[in-house]
Amino acid sequence: MRVLCPACDAQYDVPDRLIGSGRRLRCARCDHDWMVRPTTPAPVAPEPDAAPGPALPAAEAGELAPQRLAPRPPAAGSRAPVGGLGLWLAWLASVGAVLLAVVGLWLFRAELAVAWPPIQRLYGLLA
Ligand SMILES: [Zn+2]
Repeated sequence: MRVLCPACDAQYDVPDRLIGSGRRLRCARCDHDWMVRPTTPAPVAPEPDAAPGPALPAAEAGELAPQRLAPRPPAAGSRAPVGGLGLWLAWLASVGAVLLAVVGLWLFRAELAVAWPPIQRLYGLLA
């Protein structure tokens, strides 16, 4: 279940089994603690005569010690910046591809001029 700290809006994924019928949680970011109730009520045996059932032990009544929570990892959209070697390799590959294309255009200029005559104007500008 997704839990939102009411004080600072920190988000947590808390397994439903830990919440049970309700549980006190403490925010790891701001230390606020509050009561969390399950969004879908726990299945309760139908009792037409609203008589109070047997008193629950304190643990089931949600009076557990506050549980420390770890903040959620950053969302998938915020990626760590690419740095160092990977960035240099990417630049090297890009520059290499451009150089290869230019060298190919020059080496095969005769064949290209036959295959696509308008390119002769480009070679005329360079020569
Ligand atoms: Zn908080």
